[in-house]
Amino acid sequence: MKKVVAAALILGLVLFLIPMGFRHEKTQQDPEAPAALPDSGKAVTILVDGELQEMDLNEYLWGVVAAEMPASFELEALKAQAVAARTYSLHKAGQAANHPEADLCTDHTCCQAWISREAAQANWGDNAQTYIDKITRAVAETNGEVALYEGALITAVFHSSSADTTQDAVAVWGGNVPYLKSVPSPEGEEVPNYHSEVTYTAQETKDRILAAKPEALLEGAPANWFTNAVYSEGGSVLTIDLGGVTVSGHQARTIFDLRSASFTVETTPDSVTFQVTGYGHGVGMSQYGANAMAADGKTYTEILQHYYTGVTVESYE
Ligand SMILES: [Zn+2]
Repeated sequence: MKKVVAAALILGLVLFLIPMGFRHEKTQQDPEAPAALPDSGKAVTILVDGELQEMDLNEYLWGVVAAEMPASFELEALKAQAVAARTYSLHKAGQAANHPEADLCTDHTCCQAWISREAAQANWGDNAQTYIDKITRAVAETNGEVALYEGALITAVFHSSSADTTQDAVAVWGGNVPYLKSVPSPEGEEVPNYHSEVTYTAQETKDRILAAKPEALLEGAPANWFTNAVYSEGGSVLTIDLGGVTVSGHQARTIFDLRSASFTVETTPDSVTFQVTGYGHGVGMSQYGANAMAADGKTYTEILQHYYTGVTVESYE
């Protein structure tokens, strides 16, 4: 009887070790070598323009990378984007309350932007084949890889460009997230529209504030309407008083339709001008920053570990 138990144990161990060995080999293989890809065949249900589409995870990720990052960017930046998109997708899949029937949708305000191969190809014109191949490589060469914090998938948020440093999630959304900290971001003047300027008349400014905050008291000249601005270390507005009502920099960005919450306010007796730096919420990976790091020789893993504090990049089971 003991022998039978021992044999069963050994058999169990062998059965357990065989797949372990395979897994080990899989992670060690040359990424260039064509092989069965862990993500291939993994189907996701995507809500595309109100219609449910079943697609391969890598095919979906291809469309996300193509939609979310300029294909002209460095390959390592595109690979960082592919890992961020994969991580975000697996973390979010099936969690969105407004489409329980789909894992993800193509609305960037809900999940992530996505573009079909046909539409991307049409946009890219003469560069189409180069860009198609580049994005295919970015997805394939990071196949199965995700960013983990203490072994769990992170909420891999990203944005277009930062003002010298990224934003701590707590400053923008109010919740502390250990891997979404403010870090330096190497970008600058080569980013299109890095600096932008928005001017409103005093009346337009008043209308915008009152539409959002009817209780605001807007008396006298515009210079009196903006007070107590509190800036983050990274130069973004954390809070500002509009006619005596405190709003977050994020809310002010929405009220005045600014490209980011990194702004200063200048007033004249009849106008208000915002000087804005960067584009997006500023949390997590900066895409232009990622491209600058890649151009400087950094790998996608280094880029991800720079923007997501304390994460590891590894194959996900
Ligand atoms: Zn969605």
